[in-house]
Amino acid sequence: MKKIIVVGGGAAGIMAAIRAAENGASVTLFEKMPQIGRKLKITGKGRCNLTNAADVAEIVKNIPGNGKFLFSALKKFSPADAVNFFESLGVKTKIERGGRVFPASDDASEVIDALTKKLAILGVEVKTNSPVTDILAENKKIVGVIVDGKKFLADAVILATGGASYPATGSTGDGFKFVRRLGHTITPILPALVPLETEEDFVRDLQGLSLKNVRVKLISDGKCVDELFGEMLFTHFGVSGPIILTLSRKAAQLLAAGKFVELEINLKPALTPEQLDARILRDFDKFKRKTIKNALVDLLPAKLIPIILDLAYLPEDKRVDEIKSAERRRLVEILRGLPLTITKTRPIAEAIVTSGGISVKEIDPRTMESKIVKNLFIVGEVADIDGFTGGFNLQAAWAMGNSINISKT
Ligand SMILES: Cc1cc2nc3c(=O)[nH]c(=O)nc-3n(C[C@H](O)[C@H](O)[C@H](O)COP(=O)(O)OP(=O)(O)OC[C@H]3O[C@@H](n4cnc5c(N)ncnc54)[C@H](O)[C@@H]3O)c2cc1C
Repeated sequence: MKKIIVVGGGAAGIMAAIRAAENGASVTLFEKMPQIGRKLKITGKGRCNLTNAADVAEIVKNIPGNGKFLFSALKKFSPADAVNFFESLGVKTKIERGGRVFPASDDASEVIDALTKKLAILGVEVKTNSPVTDILAENKKIVGVIVDGKKFLADAVILATGGASYPATGSTGDGFKFVRRLGHTITPILPALVPLETEEDFVRDLQGLSLKNVRVKLISDGKCVDELFGEMLFTHFGVSGPIILTLSRKAAQLLAAGKFVELEINLKPALTPEQLDARILRDFDKFKRKTIKNALVDLLPAKLIPIILDLAYLPEDKRVDEIKSAERRRLVEILRGLPLTITKTRPIAEAIVTSGGISVKEIDPRTMESKIVKNLFIVGEVADIDGFTGGFNLQAAWAMGNSINISKT
């Protein structure tokens, strides 16, 4: 019987342990936290968006961090397979907006309980409160691991320690250190799916304001590099919300490269400049003898009005019948491109995923075996894999864990 050690009890490690045990190996899973699946528990705001009901090509597109590497893993374990797998464990699922798949119970704990039960049925020995401090290899071949100063021998080790974000869940980037020593390359570790900080402190006055149906441009050294339509949110430090999180991956890379990064928010993307001007004129007519501040109440959320007027150099108390066409043009410009200067991302501890990690060039995409150390397998976010929100990161983790085929080692 092959002796397999799994390092890390997150989505990828649990799935790999299940597959290794099903293939007849004797499996021990070391987890440094008091319970397995700490991060899983907080996924999808505690509801666990466990996959996305998209086809494999679409999944790959939604994993900007090396999605193509996952093609064969996703073919073997597609979102439909993930749903069947969880239903077989007794977890009923449902599909929500954007193909997001959740447990019907809306409870991530149900997913963890079902996986824990499966590990027990298969006889996987789960050792919690057991931080692995090193992975041992001789002549580029796995020997075992060190836990609490004690050596544990194994025929194969599956490394599933996750990324470096939300470290309170146990994912503190340990795996990067272990395999760097063994000769692996670690691509730069950056936050992804992370809120952005702005230079402009007027965001503080807008804190909590959520904008729907806006178009946000990401600008690097004056050039637009990406653009998204959807929902965003102002916070006390800057901006967050779905489209900001999606843009943040590229923003983090640009900032790391020393670029000048800005956002431009088009507050009325459905209207051309002419249509917007006509709309403003209609409002001016409706609010005839009012000040401009009071004439924009139909067009904008109240909190935004003083900020937009300030940026357009328009005195709040100027009466609408005194506003010149050049002033209206400035207003239209700001409404179609509210500028924000991005100074930095929030820290990686606040990022939903880590971009960067163990280079996928050094991992066999069919089996997840290291190309550098024999019988070392690398699965999940510890590898240089990161996707957008919507269940893509967990789908990547399940599919990588599922790819382990110990019988072939
Ligand atoms: C707030 C939040 C919400 C999210 N929501 C979603 C979502 O709804 N859908 C989605 O698809 N993705 C979501 N993600 C991303 C997703 O959770 C991760 O991509 C996924 O959990 C990665 O799985 P993993 O198994 O590779 O790593 P992890 O889940 O991070 O697991 C790694 C495990 O290894 C353990 N470990 C680390 N070092 C050691 C060591 N030295 N010894 C022993 N054990 C160790 C850790 O304690 C941890 O349990 C979310 C992430 C966050 C932070």
